[in-house]
Amino acid sequence: MTPGPAAAPPGQPPRPAERSLFVSDVHLDAGAPESQRQFLDFLRTEAMRADALYILGDLFELWVGDDAEVNEPVLDALAELTGRGVASFLLHGNRDFLIGQRFCDQTGCRLLPDPVIVELGGERVLLTHGDALCTDDPAYQELRTIVRAATWQRRFLDLPLVTRSLLASEARAGSRAHTARSAPTIMDVNSQAVQQAFRATRARRMIHGHTHRPAVHDALLEGHPVQRIVLGAWYEQGSYLLYQGGRYELRTLSR
Ligand code: MN
Repeated sequence: MTPGPAAAPPGQPPRPAERSLFVSDVHLDAGAPESQRQFLDFLRTEAMRADALYILGDLFELWVGDDAEVNEPVLDALAELTGRGVASFLLHGNRDFLIGQRFCDQTGCRLLPDPVIVELGGERVLLTHGDALCTDDPAYQELRTIVRAATWQRRFLDLPLVTRSLLASEARAGSRAHTARSAPTIMDVNSQAVQQAFRATRARRMIHGHTHRPAVHDALLEGHPVQRIVLGAWYEQGSYLLYQGGRYELRTLSR
């Protein structure tokens, strides 16, 4: 049972219900101005009316360090959002896992570990980017282990910016080729990994992105209903998940 909004004392407006938004895989890139326009618009409208914004990874198509040439309009819009009191949280994706403290200082966003449990309406909800669940792709998981190690990241960030950018674009080309020759099912989450995540955290709901397959999956795990909500990518159309009054709703932005 979900409690409704608290009754307001006489003469006072009712307390608004908690309103949280979730986005993932915006993949902001200089070569995709339309996604950028939609996302900036989203930050200035829908997000401004929320209590919290959760960005579940791959906000940027590429991030080679906080010292690189940054996307000023997006950083400024995030700073404005957090400045107005919208609590904003960020998880790393597989493309922007080098987002660090400087980004957080500039935007007021808080970096969360992946996976993480948050409490929404009294319920524990598991948030993750989703790439760690794609265990049918061992080559990717091996690469992930390497690049997520602190020592690898320190060495990479010590390289000159131009070298980092070059290595990143080579890695991106390699990743595209790998994706192109892999079966579509390999690029989706593995159901055992999903069950394992539910069991390990004892959460009954998880929200993730990465696979670009927006959907709500209901299932039974050991007799308990569990739900996995998958967020969409923004390549063609912006979308988000709205949580309000105990309900979750996937929404597509109008152009
Ligand atoms: Mn991803």
